[in-house]
Amino acid sequence: MITNGTEFVDTVIVGGGQAGLVMGHELARQRRDFVILDAGRRVGDAWRERWDSLELFTAARFNGLPGMPFPGDPFRFPTKDEVADFLEEYARAFDLPVRSDVRVDGVRGESGRFVTTAGGLRWESANVVVATGGCQAPQVPAFADQLDEQVVQLHSSEYRNPSQLPEGPVLIVGMGNSGAEIARDVAATHPTTIAGTPGAQAPVRPTRTTARLVFPLLRFAGLHVVTLGTPVGRAVSAKLPTAPLVRTRISDLVGLGVDVVPRITGVSGGRAISADGTACTASSVIWCTGYRDEFDWIDLPAFDEHGEPIHRRGVVAAAPGLYFLGLEFLYALASATLPGIARDARHLAKRMPPPVAVALTEETATGAREPAGVFRGE
Ligand code: FAD
Repeated sequence: MITNGTEFVDTVIVGGGQAGLVMGHELARQRRDFVILDAGRRVGDAWRERWDSLELFTAARFNGLPGMPFPGDPFRFPTKDEVADFLEEYARAFDLPVRSDVRVDGVRGESGRFVTTAGGLRWESANVVVATGGCQAPQVPAFADQLDEQVVQLHSSEYRNPSQLPEGPVLIVGMGNSGAEIARDVAATHPTTIAGTPGAQAPVRPTRTTARLVFPLLRFAGLHVVTLGTPVGRAVSAKLPTAPLVRTRISDLVGLGVDVVPRITGVSGGRAISADGTACTASSVIWCTGYRDEFDWIDLPAFDEHGEPIHRRGVVAAAPGLYFLGLEFLYALASATLPGIARDARHLAKRMPPPVAVALTEETATGAREPAGVFRGE
């Protein structure tokens, strides 16, 4: 229902990646009136915009979403574009009300409801689900701007393939999975150095055999053992370790001729300096240094002093009706992955109070008053 430029719905979902879509699927099953607002041009763009050679670590058989298995050979590891197309097909098949090209710039409480805004657009709702993903604000060390201005700098979120890079040595900063995978990609065409502190390595690599025999166990552990409901899960979540290297190991990179140096601690004379004092000469630097959450557009009492959401399995007690989905370790190690998202969405859907039909008052129709209904946004 739209009145005076405001659309009234039971629930606004912010973000139409896998988390927002699966949440939408749950709400559709409850016959709620909802809308999914997404900043991307096309459903799946968050995946499409990742680097060209990216293949998943999770086999296809584990990447299906409620009501739709992932298509094709279940033991292969799909490309990022296949995931993007799968999500687009998911939204289409279930007729999910995704509004693309809508970047939400505000959520606030007003008269006991939530008001969500995007430019001149406005929604009022009883519930808001924030499903904006873990890749919001690329994080780069402050000393990056002291690098020589000739050095081309990219964050991993901007890297697509080696053709973006000028000739000459490339420094990859960060030894997580993104750093290792991008280093492998770049090493084929450029002299490459990777800097960082090597973390753990997964016990097995993604292969057809491990997809059959080992990944079911890993999935079980990620969903049911390493959770906030178990001592081991709480210990892991208290100090989230860097994810182990899954496909590309440091020894593989060394085999490809990649130099490995300790973490970069600063810049001197325009060059990056590693912890052992090595000055790294590079024509380009790719920062594989992760992301930070950015929720400054949400004006609700839902955050701690570091700006992190305060929630219990995605439910925000201080702002009833506000929910988070897709956060790292929302409930389990697998929470922010394709195999883990459905359970968390189901949990949130069960926690939502029953939908209440929004009744238009006479005043509302003339814009003098807001519609009656039960909203608890403040
Ligand atoms: P996203 O996919 O990031 O979607 C969030 C959506 O919200 C985007 O469409 C964005 O446009 C939108 N949005 C953001 N802010 C706003 C706003 N203010 N207003 C409106 N819309 C907004 N998981 C696996 O299961 N298997 C894998 O192998 C795997 N590999 C990965 C490899 C990489 C390099 C990365 C980064 C992640 C990988 N993941 C993998 C993890 C996870 O599945 C993805 O990060 C996934 O994209 C998260 O889905 P999401 O819906 O939570 O967030």
